[in-house]
Amino acid sequence: MTTAARSTLLTGIGELTTSDPALGTLHDAALVLEGARVAWLGDAGAAPAADDVVDVDGRAVLPGWVDSHTHLVFAGDRTEEFEARMAGKPYEAGGIAVTVEATRGASDAALRANLARHLAEAYAQGTTCVETKTGYGLSTVDEERSARIAAELADEVTYLGAHLVPPGHDPNSYVDLVRGEMLDAVTPYVGWADVFCERGAFDEHDSAKVLRAAGQQGLGLRVHGNQLGEGPGVRLAVEHGAASVDHCTYLSDADVDALAGSDTVATLLPACDLSTRQPLAPARRLLDAGATIALASNANPGSSYTTSMAFCVTTAVLQMGLSVTEAVHAATAGGARALRRDTGDGAVGTLRVGARADVHVLDAPSATHLAYRPGVPLTWAVWRRGEEVSPRRRPT
Ligand SMILES: [Zn+2]
Repeated sequence: MTTAARSTLLTGIGELTTSDPALGTLHDAALVLEGARVAWLGDAGAAPAADDVVDVDGRAVLPGWVDSHTHLVFAGDRTEEFEARMAGKPYEAGGIAVTVEATRGASDAALRANLARHLAEAYAQGTTCVETKTGYGLSTVDEERSARIAAELADEVTYLGAHLVPPGHDPNSYVDLVRGEMLDAVTPYVGWADVFCERGAFDEHDSAKVLRAAGQQGLGLRVHGNQLGEGPGVRLAVEHGAASVDHCTYLSDADVDALAGSDTVATLLPACDLSTRQPLAPARRLLDAGATIALASNANPGSSYTTSMAFCVTTAVLQMGLSVTEAVHAATAGGARALRRDTGDGAVGTLRVGARADVHVLDAPSATHLAYRPGVPLTWAVWRRGEEVSPRRRPT
């Protein structure tokens, strides 16, 4: 005999953003979580009974943020590089080597604790599904352990052995290592492979070699592309059927058309664009062309050291020309699409019956307050997989 999972009724919802086009935004709504799933949603007056009841007193409820791009398996800190950049030094891909050295020198326990601390920081701000990458090991043994530790804690893990050719390595033999022995070592722990296709990192030819090998291994594909200038990243991602191409700061018209005509999500990383003093990615142009976009934090110690998805949403509205609805959609359903977790039982980034019970309650009457009150911490409560993870609820 099985016991029914414990249920929680969230009622008194002033505005319920579902991020599901068929459901839209509901008012005076209620939501029932049962175990790790959404069991019911609709008019508050019609809500079924549940084991626990939380009256959110007119607050806004959203799906938890889906942060589809982070680099959180790392050690060390790059404050000095950030200070130099703010003093006018341009961002270059090579700063990654500083984090590689610190990461290799850290114990498993230290890497695990650092990852757990950053995930807790993200959850406390309404993020409920996190992708994270390897890429600060860059040797078979260090990439394997980064992947193993990431798989213990993160929802999705991406192999990024092709982050940078480590100092002292010949580029050709390093690419062979990344698509050979290193790929074999990480495959048990990861669902995705990624390549940093950029000046100073990997060119189109080498990036394609890595993507082909990872695809043959059965991994899903993603690409870091078009961050520092126009280049082959977007085209490569679309040609290889990658789930996402991330950054997309500099896009040609052909890149925008290619994205609009494909299933590859353009994942935009506004906190990174700002932290590296680059222009913001052309979100409006992409949406108007019909491309699917996601917003993600790119949390990492070098180019974007924030776990705040709310900051990304605020920036997208105030500086990138998106409406609040478009920005919230990109940070929830868009991220889910980039991770191919947008459909079926346990889908994330949406609130519908059968979706994962990932819920973000704002201490505000509407999601508009995310942009209307920039910088104010508005997270009031968070449920992840049906468990309340942020015991920060303030009295009503
Ligand atoms: Zn990245």
